[in-house]
Amino acid sequence: MNNLILKEFFLAENHKAKNLKKIYKEILREGLISVDKIIDKTHIKPATCARLLDELVQNNLILANQLGKSTGGRRPILYRVNLTIGYLIGIEITGIFSTILLMNIELSIIDKIKLKTNDNKINLNLLDLIIDNIHKILANNQLSADNILGIGISSDDLLNQPDLNKKNDTHDITNIKNYLNNHLPIYLKLGSGTNFAAIAEHKLHYTNCSKRFVFTSCDIEIRSSAIIDSALPLTQANMTGSFGHMIIEKKGRLCSCGSRGCLQQYCALPALKKQIIKKIKNGENSIINQWVSSIKEIDYHIIFKAFEQNDLLAISVLEQAAHDYSIGLFNLILTFQPDTVICGGTLVPKSSFFKIIKKNIEEKLNNYPQLNTKIYPASASYDIVSQGAGAMILEQWLK
Ligand SMILES: [Zn+2]
Repeated sequence: MNNLILKEFFLAENHKAKNLKKIYKEILREGLISVDKIIDKTHIKPATCARLLDELVQNNLILANQLGKSTGGRRPILYRVNLTIGYLIGIEITGIFSTILLMNIELSIIDKIKLKTNDNKINLNLLDLIIDNIHKILANNQLSADNILGIGISSDDLLNQPDLNKKNDTHDITNIKNYLNNHLPIYLKLGSGTNFAAIAEHKLHYTNCSKRFVFTSCDIEIRSSAIIDSALPLTQANMTGSFGHMIIEKKGRLCSCGSRGCLQQYCALPALKKQIIKKIKNGENSIINQWVSSIKEIDYHIIFKAFEQNDLLAISVLEQAAHDYSIGLFNLILTFQPDTVICGGTLVPKSSFFKIIKKNIEEKLNNYPQLNTKIYPASASYDIVSQGAGAMILEQWLK
């Protein structure tokens, strides 16, 4: 393994390096691929392609040790990337758990550490804990910092202020980077968890079928990220939360951003909790009354339990939120004209939430035959943000 060659290869920017990267990306995307297919996809001349493939093999960046199916003549050589040449680390920090993933460059998870964290604010104690556990995951897998192409960290709390008024705190981000780099001499990138989830969903499931991709998330916050004709999101890391502030009702509910009628105030978890409490206070019947002695005890876990038990009050609030979310989502579809829309976040798997959204969107799309938008729920993986953090590092190198 020669990480120096890999880094030199990634950093070069001349015409030849661009073609080498083009070929490498195609091999990475396909897993196993023949020279004919590479030529077909990259439009590089056959003689040049053969020479460049040879160079990649000589430098151990790709392997050529398998044969494909014969279509009459000799069986073609199949190329694949050398997975032992470099690894990626992806980190997601949340207020409940933080995840450190070690991945190969195909984003397959090699090792994982889950840490209990009480605060999603990045402080020195948390950074020390993360540094210790990165050393631990490297040691467990007989790897050193030299083997790692980079570390991606999701840090929405710093990058994506929910009230949109607070500016991106670049001073804090520089301090975090400097502190980590003093302990770990590894390329480091901080970004938005929503963008990371979008990168991972796109790369793992939709690379070959989507050119205009929109990922949305309905959770404590409502967020979105668009990937158009690229592998990297169009949405600025500090603006993924703007979807939640799309106005869906004139003179509607007051939002923390100062506007009225923002989507966030109708479908995000805090809004649902507020509505449920309001209805219970008004004397409406709910199973929740049997579980709590005071409305102060109503938290998200209780609300999720009520959804599971098909409590009529909780379900009516959830269904109304799904109808309201459809309005915002359809506005987003009209703006970006995506071929693929992914709905992620805690609420999507709850009861009929996604089913209602899908039905509403498909009905509205009937009026736009020129739009060919498909809508899917996000994958159920809890590691998608960390995987995306690693994927973003790779995309940076292969840019
Ligand atoms: Zn707002």
